[in-house]
Amino acid sequence: MQMEVRHYGDPVLREKGTPIEEFDDALKKLVDDMIETMNAEQGVGLAAQQVGLARMLCVVQVPAEYDVDEEGNRENPDLPMPLVLVNPEITEHSSETWSMDEGCLSFPEMTGPISRACSIAFTYQDLTGARHEARATGFAARVIQHEVDHLNGVLFIDRMSAVKRIALGGRLKRMKRETRAQLGLA
Ligand SMILES: [Zn+2]
Repeated sequence: MQMEVRHYGDPVLREKGTPIEEFDDALKKLVDDMIETMNAEQGVGLAAQQVGLARMLCVVQVPAEYDVDEEGNRENPDLPMPLVLVNPEITEHSSETWSMDEGCLSFPEMTGPISRACSIAFTYQDLTGARHEARATGFAARVIQHEVDHLNGVLFIDRMSAVKRIALGGRLKRMKRETRAQLGLA
């Protein structure tokens, strides 16, 4: 079942997720629905906050054609896709960073350059509760950093340069106002 994607201005996007403790059928169903929603919206990642749930859960789907370095070699051939990250935590960020235009399903038609670590190490649990340690580099590492930010209530606009944020200021204000009006918030 496709879920409604929450837009900027919805207070749930600012909530830190609570850890997942039950690895049951309800969790599997939620993950299925999140993957279906991410694919329908043509996103490469989706966090629980974006479907209205402040939980430590996100899904990532990086197409193989995006998972390549400048020479066209696969960067993360061992990362299963879609990647379901339950209670993920980034444990290491490379000091090397790179900038790229990012978008976010919660900010329709808005993009901006964001600097992020080139590679990361992270831990997570899968749908059975088993713990994993993994590494990611390049675009997949970027997407995972973006999604884990969501789980902590951090949005990509928080990581934009002040100049870019000011440039988007009017559109951000309008989006926030429209979202809050739809939710019946003052
Ligand atoms: Zn996002």
